[in-house]
Amino acid sequence: MKMALLDDEVISAEKALIFRQRTGRKGYIYACPECGEPARLHGKSGQDGHFEHKTRVKGCSLSHIAR
Ligand SMILES: [Zn+2]
Repeated sequence: MKMALLDDEVISAEKALIFRQRTGRKGYIYACPECGEPARLHGKSGQDGHFEHKTRVKGCSLSHIAR
């Protein structure tokens, strides 16, 4: 997915890559906007990133697409 929640604010993967580079914050600090489960950022700076759930979530339409 391309969008996630960070501290209850929607953030795009593109902005999250910049945020990660600036702050060094990594890991499952994001949440899926649909199911609220933890998600982490994948991707390198300067590329298109995306978020992935920590575990597959049944019933979440954002959960089963890997990229
Ligand atoms: Zn989800």
